[in-house]
Amino acid sequence: MKNKIVAGNWKMNNNKEQTKSLLNKLKSYKIPDDVRIIVAPSFTQLDQSLQILKGTKIGVAAQNMNAASSGAFTGEVSAEMLKGIGVNSVIIGHSERRSLYHESDEILINKVKSAIESNMEIIFCFGEELDDRKSGLHFEIINKQLSSTLFNFSESDWKKIILAYEPVWAIGTGETASPSQAQEMHSYIRKIISNRYNDNLAKNVSILYGGSVKPNNVEEIFKGLDVDGGLIGGASLNAEDFMAIVNAF
Ligand code: PEP
Repeated sequence: MKNKIVAGNWKMNNNKEQTKSLLNKLKSYKIPDDVRIIVAPSFTQLDQSLQILKGTKIGVAAQNMNAASSGAFTGEVSAEMLKGIGVNSVIIGHSERRSLYHESDEILINKVKSAIESNMEIIFCFGEELDDRKSGLHFEIINKQLSSTLFNFSESDWKKIILAYEPVWAIGTGETASPSQAQEMHSYIRKIISNRYNDNLAKNVSILYGGSVKPNNVEEIFKGLDVDGGLIGGASLNAEDFMAIVNAF
């Protein structure tokens, strides 16, 4: 079933004290009944975050995971390890992982497979580069990105998949897609999901928009009929801004 979701990707920010302070501030806000909130702290703050958020409506996700369950992968963390401490959601395919850490479609497919096998919820990110948009290739690129990754999975594998459309040119740049650009792309994404699978899956998958969403632009973006929420980077580091976004539906 489609949910309204606001997820905060903290990236490599917030030490132990900052995590505690931000989460305690978030906890003090009343959360609308029909909105799910997820925060994605760094690996080192996941355990503490789960403890602080116990009994609240705020969920915790990891920002990344390795596809293997264990072994000689120095510096990596598996789905099994995340599940072991109680983390049941993970972000896969963020543009920073794709560009800075060279995560290919094959790597992403293996991560998604491993997350599904571990019964984890996946926030799967994808989005076009500025040049793609300028040359009018954005729809084609999005189709390609989904066809070469998630469209390899069966319909039943999609039960715990949340999509996050994040145009790369809008991430951390202060430049956001216009509400109509976001809505137009989300509607296109439903169309290609319907073509590959069926209408029911296309209607029910949650599609978040990400890319410089702030309190001052969120209301218009969330008005898009096919926009089910947001994946928020910079603005998720400030409790007041993040909760203003949560309350913008
Ligand atoms: C992100 O990193 O997923 C993101 C959307 O960042 P920002 O909101 O800062 O653009």
